[in-house]
Amino acid sequence: MRPPNSIAGTNAEMTYQANEQFAAALDKDDPIAEFRSHFHIPQTEGGSDCIYFAGNSLGLQPRKTKQYVAEELDDWARLGVEGHWAARKPWLSYHENLTDSTARLVGAKSGEVVVMNTLTTNLHLMMVSFYRPTKTRYKILIESNAFPSDQYAVNSQAKFHGFDPAQAVVEIAPRKGESLIRPGDILELIEREGDSIALVMLGDVNYLTGQAFDIATIAKLAHEKGCLIGLNLAHGAGNLLLDLHDWTVDFAVWCSYKYLNAGPGGLAGCFVHERHANDASLPRFCGWWGHNKATRFKMAPTFDPIPGAEGWQLSNPPILQLAALRASMELFDRAGMVAIRRKGDLLTGYLEYLLERIPNQFCRIITPREQSQRGCQLSVRVKGDPKQLLNTLNTAGAICDFREPDIIRVAPAPLFNTFSEVYRFAQLVQRCTED
Ligand SMILES: *Cc1c(COP(=O)(O)O)cnc(C)c1O
Repeated sequence: MRPPNSIAGTNAEMTYQANEQFAAALDKDDPIAEFRSHFHIPQTEGGSDCIYFAGNSLGLQPRKTKQYVAEELDDWARLGVEGHWAARKPWLSYHENLTDSTARLVGAKSGEVVVMNTLTTNLHLMMVSFYRPTKTRYKILIESNAFPSDQYAVNSQAKFHGFDPAQAVVEIAPRKGESLIRPGDILELIEREGDSIALVMLGDVNYLTGQAFDIATIAKLAHEKGCLIGLNLAHGAGNLLLDLHDWTVDFAVWCSYKYLNAGPGGLAGCFVHERHANDASLPRFCGWWGHNKATRFKMAPTFDPIPGAEGWQLSNPPILQLAALRASMELFDRAGMVAIRRKGDLLTGYLEYLLERIPNQFCRIITPREQSQRGCQLSVRVKGDPKQLLNTLNTAGAICDFREPDIIRVAPAPLFNTFSEVYRFAQLVQRCTED
C-alpha cells in the first residue's frame, strides 16, 4: 500500500556538505518549502525568526487557525444554539470534517478513526475495552522509558482490575549501559511471556530517545501469542508514515498538539481496528455522543453505539479546538505524508551529519541512525551542562527542549523548518562548544 518508512533515495544516498550554500540549495530544491509560509514563526527579541525545533512538543500555529476559530465564534454569536444545525459547518457533525484526513494520516479506514477528548483520556477509554485481564493473561507490556502519563495510566488500569502493577506491568528496557531498546528484545519478551500478556502497549516513537519501532512485526507476533496491541502515536502522528489498518494494531491514540499543530491542549485522535470497531458487545464506557446519530436526540435510556470508532465518543466535542485542528490537517492533506516524511528524513539526516562533525565528542546522538528507526527527532546526550547549552541556544533564538538528566531533544519539523535553520543551529551548537 504505502511505501515503507525509509524511502530510498533520500539521505541514504545524499552526500551532505557543511556549508551555508549547500543548505540553501537543499531549501531551493525542497518541494514542500512553501508550507513554512502557512505558519506563524515565533520571533526573537530582535524581531527575526526563531529556529523552532520543538514541534515535537508543541507545533506551531497555522496562519489559518485564527480564521477558522473566528468563524465558529461568529456563528455562535449570530446563531446561538441554532449553530448546531445552521453554522457554516454545523457543530452536530463538525468532527466528521476531520475524519478523512485523520484516516489518511494514520493509514486507517474512515470508520476506524475519530477525533475526541485528549490523549490520556483516550488511552484509558481504549484500555477499558482492550485491557480485559484474566487470572492467567493479565500483563501489560510497555517501554521502561515510556512517557510518565502512559505509565500512570497502565499502572492504574492494572490496579483497577485488582492486580499489583509490579507484577502486571512488564517493562522492556534498554540493556545495561545502552540507551535504546533492541528491537529483538521486544520480540523475545513477547515470545517468552506472551501467554500471560493481555496488552502490548507501545509508543511507535519513543518520546525520549526518538526510537521508532517496527510495529508490523511486533503486532504480528503479539497476535500470534494471543495478545492485543495498542499504540501511543503522540510522536508518530504527523511524523511517520503509518499504516494502522494493515499493521492490524487493535487500537491507537495520539495527541494533536505536537507534530499536528492543533494548539495547546488540542483534541486527540483515536483508532479502533475495523474488526473491533463494529462490535457492540465490547465493554466500553459510554456517553451520548457515541450513541446512534439517528436516535441520539430521542434520549432513550439504552445505549446503541455508532458503528466504528465514533461509538467511543462520550461528549459533544469542543468546536473551537476542532476548528484549530482542521486548519492544520488541511496542510497535512495538501503536502501529503510521503513528501513530509521524505523531507523529514533529509532534514534530520542533515542535522545528524552536522552535529557529528562537531569535535570533542561534545554531544552524542542516542537516536538510531537508521531512517526506518526514527522520525524527525534527534535526542542528544550533552556533556557538561546541558541546561546551560539550552539557555545559550535559547538566547540565540533556537528553541528545543531538555529532558532530565542530560538529553536535549531537537526536532526539525518538515512543514515549517528549513535546511538553512539546521545549518545555523549546528553552527550555534558548535560555537557553544568553543566557549
Ligand atoms: C505528549 C505525550 C503525552 C501527553 O498526554 P496528554 O494526555 O495529551 O496530556 C502522553 N504520552 C506520550 C507518549 C506523549 O508523548
